[in-house]
Parts: sequence; structure tokens; C-alpha cells
Amino acid sequence: MPSTHLARRDWTDQAVRRIEADFNRSADTHLIPIDLPHYPGIELYLKDESSHPTGSLKHRLARSLFLYALCNGWIGPDTPIVEASSGSTAVSEAYFARMLGLRFIALVPRATAAEKIAAIEFQGGECQFADDPNEVYREAESLAREVRGHYMDQFKYAERATDWRGNNNIADSIFQQLGRERHPVPRWIVCGAGTGGTSATLGRFVRYNHFATEICVSDPEGSVFHRHFADRGVTAIERCESCIEGIGRPRVEPSFIPDVVDRMMVVRDADSIAAARVLSERLGRLCGGSTGTNFWACAQLIAEMVAQGRDGSVVSILCDQGERYASTYFNDAWVAGKQLDLAPGMRTMREFFAGRGFTPY
Ligand SMILES: *Cc1c(COP(=O)(O)O)cnc(C)c1O
Repeated sequence: MPSTHLARRDWTDQAVRRIEADFNRSADTHLIPIDLPHYPGIELYLKDESSHPTGSLKHRLARSLFLYALCNGWIGPDTPIVEASSGSTAVSEAYFARMLGLRFIALVPRATAAEKIAAIEFQGGECQFADDPNEVYREAESLAREVRGHYMDQFKYAERATDWRGNNNIADSIFQQLGRERHPVPRWIVCGAGTGGTSATLGRFVRYNHFATEICVSDPEGSVFHRHFADRGVTAIERCESCIEGIGRPRVEPSFIPDVVDRMMVVRDADSIAAARVLSERLGRLCGGSTGTNFWACAQLIAEMVAQGRDGSVVSILCDQGERYASTYFNDAWVAGKQLDLAPGMRTMREFFAGRGFTPY
């Protein structure tokens, strides 16, 4: 065998070890119970993915994508890593690229929040900007070719890079942590869809393990995913009008697997932000917009369970921290500039917490 080949095998071996050692040093993320004293038969939990070292659920994805690419022999010691990302994936991938001594370049839409760009650079990544959000994939691909790098392609590989049967994926972890609860098998798990990877992992895991849990995807009004769910012939829309970062897409991403999703719920952006704000008050710390989208859907599902006289548990995901959105979702001037009226949604959420059910206006 040529020595360069052996040297590369040796580098890959060290790279996998470094990622596994980092995992071994890390603790699992918390499953936080949300107190609902007015709904005594129901427990609600949030899987706190904001507590990963890079602050979001994309930490899991980035780790999986790197291991997948390394074990496929796609990355060597001199391979620049390129990604098309609206921010969070790039932050997490930059963290792992630096861990392995690799250059990392993110192609981000120009509208990406300044805080997220700073976060990518803080982890040692570089940013390049795409004017047309629909062009980020193509531009990332051609940039990777240009720099003789590897295009990670989160939207393609998210669903297959994660070990869906277990190996401490997010689903495995949630069910382990529910082990001693009153209702250890939740009626619903609610998540959003950006790549679709999280819903694919959850949906496959509950089927493989014979759990009766249903998967509900909460989707912004402007996104294509719920349209595709209702009519598989719809695979793209001109643009996704949503301002909720991380979820909602203009094209059905290859990692979105609709057949393992049991239900989709459509949520207006104003309601996602309203729900994020009311939940943040309850938690005593800020959570991001997609967590609000999830929480809005949870409230609706819980109200349905109460109306049907069913008890049980509901689990959702705290995807990232609201501090990242201080200048957007938590800034009244920004919200007003987007012509978003949060008042009705905030009233709905406060009424929900007060035990008066869920009455969308
Ligand atoms: C990516 C992302 C999601 C959606 O997760 P996927 O597994 O990509 O579908 C939700 N919220 C935030 C903040 C994200 O970054």
C-alpha cells in the first residue's frame, strides 16, 4: 500500500478518535419538564439542545456528518469543508472542523442574523454570502470544487448520517430520560423541519422500537414541507416567506421523510415568536423562534388531549437559545418592522398556561 494512503488512514483514525473523545467528555442534554398545573393528566418536556457546546441541535448533526464523511474517506488532512447553512449548522461544523485542524467555509444567505455570523467566526469558520437563498446549494457545491474541498451537504445527508436505530441519537436519549416518568412513552413528539433529519430520526426510531408515539412536525406557514405532506406532487415553492430560522424551506429537502411523520401543524411566524416569548418568560431564559413554533403545536396537541379526556406526555425540542435572536425576535422594533402582531398569539399562550385551553384567534 502506498505510504500516502497509510498516512491518510492514520489521520482519519486520529480524527475519528478526537470526535469520539469530545463526545466522551460531554454530558447529555437535559430533558426539562414544563410545569402545567392546570392540566394534571399531562406532562410536557423539552429536550434542551441549546446546552450543546455550540448551542443548538445542529451540534448532533455536525458530529454525525463529520463522522460519516470521515468514515466514507471523503475528508483528508488538507480538505477544506464547505457547507450551505443559514447559520446554526455552520456554527457546529466550524467547531468540529477546528477540532480536526480543517479550514471551514460557510455559504450563508445575506439576511442571516449578525449574531450567527459572529458565532461562525468565533468557532474559526469563514463566511461567504449568497444573495439568492435558493442558490446557496449550487454556490456551495461550486465553491467546494474550486477549493478542492468537501461539500458537507446537510440537506442531503442529515437523514442517513445519524444512526436511526439508537447509538444515543436524540430519540434514544429522549426515551432513556423518560424512563422513570409517569408516562414514559409520549403520545406526541413535536419537532420542526429544516433538513428534516430530526423528524426522520424520531419517526424511524419509534417505529423500530414499537412505540405508539406519534411524530408531529410544526411548520411555518410559508414553508413547503406541510404542502408536500398534503400533496406529494408539491416539491418546491418560489420562496419561503418565513422568518423563523432553522426551519421552513422553499424546496422539499432530500432528508425530509414525510412517511414517518404522522401529522403536520402549520404555525404563523407571529405565533411562533409569541410562543417563544411566553415560553421564555416561563423558563426564565430566552429560547429561539423554532422552539416557539414547536411550543405552539404542543399547546394545541395538549388542548386536544384534554378535550378527548386523554392523559399522557408530550415531548418537544428546545432547539437553540434566544440570545442569538436578541436583535430580531426579541426586539420590538424589528418585529414591528416585519409587520408582525404578537399580541393575539401571546394572549393565546397565556390563556393556555392559565388552564383555559388553546383558542387560536
Ligand atoms: C435545523 C434546525 C431545526 C430543524 O432541525 P432539522 O433536523 O434540520 O430538521 C430547528 N430549529 C433550529 C434552530 C435549527 O437550526
